[in-house]
Amino acid sequence: MSNYAKRISSLPPYLFAEIDARKLEAERKGADIIDLGVGDPDLPTPPHIVEAACHAANDPSNHQYPSYEGMLVFREAVAAWYRQRMHVKLDAADEVITLIGSKEGIAHSPLAFLDPGGTALVPDPAYPVYTNATVLADSTPYPLPLTDEHDFKPDLESIDRGVAKRARIMFLNYPNNPTAATAEKSFFKAVVDFANEHDLIVLHDNPYSELTFDGYEAPSFLAVAGAKEVGIEFGSLSKTYNMTGWRIGFAVGNSDLIKGLKLVKTNIDSGVFQALQIAGIAALTGSQDCVKSNVRIYRERRDILLDGLRSAGIEVKKPKATFYLWAAVPDGFSSIEFSIFLLERAGVVTTPGVGFGENGEGFVRFSLCVSAERLREACERIKWLREENERCKKHKQPTEN
Ligand SMILES: *Cc1c(COP(=O)(O)O)cnc(C)c1O
Repeated sequence: MSNYAKRISSLPPYLFAEIDARKLEAERKGADIIDLGVGDPDLPTPPHIVEAACHAANDPSNHQYPSYEGMLVFREAVAAWYRQRMHVKLDAADEVITLIGSKEGIAHSPLAFLDPGGTALVPDPAYPVYTNATVLADSTPYPLPLTDEHDFKPDLESIDRGVAKRARIMFLNYPNNPTAATAEKSFFKAVVDFANEHDLIVLHDNPYSELTFDGYEAPSFLAVAGAKEVGIEFGSLSKTYNMTGWRIGFAVGNSDLIKGLKLVKTNIDSGVFQALQIAGIAALTGSQDCVKSNVRIYRERRDILLDGLRSAGIEVKKPKATFYLWAAVPDGFSSIEFSIFLLERAGVVTTPGVGFGENGEGFVRFSLCVSAERLREACERIKWLREENERCKKHKQPTEN
């Protein structure tokens, strides 16, 4: 460790390590583990997208370095998709950039927008990359607590004025991982006002915009007036089209910010394989029936797990979006203890909320990336655990003190 740069040791501890180790150990012993920990679609990429990639991979004109900013035809497909789906007008030439998955663009943003010693406003709990990328840019994340009382949205009013003045960037993510909360345009409007007041750059991460249920449509941050003056939005093909392994996403919005991100990227990576961008065009411009079918599958899974957890006495809200359930930990457990309990006693892997930030304590995240059948099995085991718990309580002799 001693030969590493200081910024490596400044990274927060990896709190999932204990769960990972116990999961491996259980599997080694031959336990039948149901993994509701990872947020990685188990369903395959739709065939028309795979075919477009194969075809393009066979074309030698795609074999050389791609452009840094991405193929104009891919960026035009993103712009067309935004116009149609989000009612947002974008100039493909300078308001869209191709990313090696949205994580890449998110992780490089602090290098583009923060000076050493800078401050980023980061939701807590959150996708860990916002905090870690800020630390890797020699800057300081300032947590914005997401609590049940505020529907898991930051309470902008309560942010310390001095911190808001000092901060350069603010990360946001709705529909949200890990809480599955959603945001309306009115919230985004308040964010734009806040950003203008404090001269902040808003980085909105929106990979779950298409995984929505019961008629809910997730808005783009850029769909509110003034948003494009203060921010950019990250999008991804990963969750929408089951393409996490392909590594393709995009950032859209303010042209100066897109240019800043491009300046960093130009010196670090050399773009996305053109065959993948052509596959991305097939995804964005082809039939969206595959997305509807995905959503139907996740909704069925959501309802199975929701019913199962509730009948096991676990408190959980019905989410309008994402493939996560954010469940309250029963009294007497920390989030890590409850995750370990579910793993050791039911063979069900979950993610302890505290791993996403201090304010995630008291919750565990269940993901819906296994079949309905396996989810039913997970529910059975968790229900059985509760019944056994009740039996134990009943049979315990009352103790005198
Ligand atoms: C999955 C996920 C991403 C990363 O998506 P990629 O495009 O695959 O890099 C980004 N943000 C959040 C909140 C996610 O859950």
